[in-house]
Amino acid sequence: MTSDEFIPPAKPIIGDEERAAVDRVMRSGMVAQGPEVAAFEEEFSQHFVAGRPTVAVNSGTSGLHLGLLAAGIGPGDEVIVPSFTFAATGNSVALTGAKPVFADIEPETFSLDPVAVEAAITPRTKAIMPVHLYGHPARMRELAEIAERHGVALFEDAAQAHGASLGGRPVGTFGRFAMFSLYPTKNMTSGEGGMVTTDSPELARGVRLLRNQGMEKQYENEVIGFNARMTDIHAAIGRVQLTKVDGWTAQRRENAAFLDANLSGVVIPPVAHDAVHVYHQYTVRVTEDRDGFVAALRNEHNVGSGVYYPIPNHRLPSLAPYAPGLDLPETERAAREVVSLPVHPSLTASDLDRIVTAVAAVAKAGA
Ligand SMILES: *Cc1c(COP(=O)(O)O)cnc(C)c1O
Repeated sequence: MTSDEFIPPAKPIIGDEERAAVDRVMRSGMVAQGPEVAAFEEEFSQHFVAGRPTVAVNSGTSGLHLGLLAAGIGPGDEVIVPSFTFAATGNSVALTGAKPVFADIEPETFSLDPVAVEAAITPRTKAIMPVHLYGHPARMRELAEIAERHGVALFEDAAQAHGASLGGRPVGTFGRFAMFSLYPTKNMTSGEGGMVTTDSPELARGVRLLRNQGMEKQYENEVIGFNARMTDIHAAIGRVQLTKVDGWTAQRRENAAFLDANLSGVVIPPVAHDAVHVYHQYTVRVTEDRDGFVAALRNEHNVGSGVYYPIPNHRLPSLAPYAPGLDLPETERAAREVVSLPVHPSLTASDLDRIVTAVAAVAKAGA
């Protein structure tokens, strides 16, 4: 046991500017979706996706769901997704009435394996939706080529990857649409929220309709829709965070470089040669007794960590009915071996030293 303070695995940063922005909106008396949301959409779009049409919604999950619906995905369709991700990826497909088809990942990036994706394509396949897991871009060039050759769409779950890029091209600009989450543990937050970015003004309009009861003009409902609007309170928080996120990402990348150079006894996360990894998570592999490793970090060194994700989606009680008898060996191995160490921008130099020392000690004891 140690007397050192607990190092949490994640720590949202909410400052005075965010509080002042909320207060400003509250005082205006207009708190539902309004000018703050419109400004946030425009600023987010310029910041991350080179000005593509961008629509704010009340969560990342809503963003995926509405994006899929606006792209025409529905009953009878199949969408290929990873199983090694947060359940919202497969859930959003299932919520449209389509079938999530789970394909295996490649071991380096933890994202969809293009070979496995191609093998999973059937005449019912309408789209491929990779996840840029942990903030590292998925293999978008190979997946785009496969999508084009088979005449299916490419979407992106960029929930964890604000600012990541591949060959200089930002994630969120590869697919017909992409979703970014603004949940508090993500690289930036609006409290709750999501952004849908798209290369299609028509798809953007579809998401706008679906988020607001199917209305563009008040009380002239064109389609059956939801209430998935973002509030101006949330948008005001997000706009402030947007001015800070690049600094936080730079700090995450600096922390990751330190861990890369100093960790021992674990497999550090590889980065593709022309990828920018934004380290939503810094995820290592522990090949023997991962759960013992996590417990020892916590109990003996007061260092928090996270396992994302211990149960692959295709074995969750909720999603397993879509995948009877499916075997995804790299997904299973990742679920057994991964541990995400703290990498968030609030870590101090002494925290980073403690993480390195703790990992070395625990890995040695387990060897
Ligand atoms: C967080 C997350 C989501 C869902 O976003 P919410 O804003 O929490 O609804 C979807 N996919 C992935 C990979 C995520 O990490």
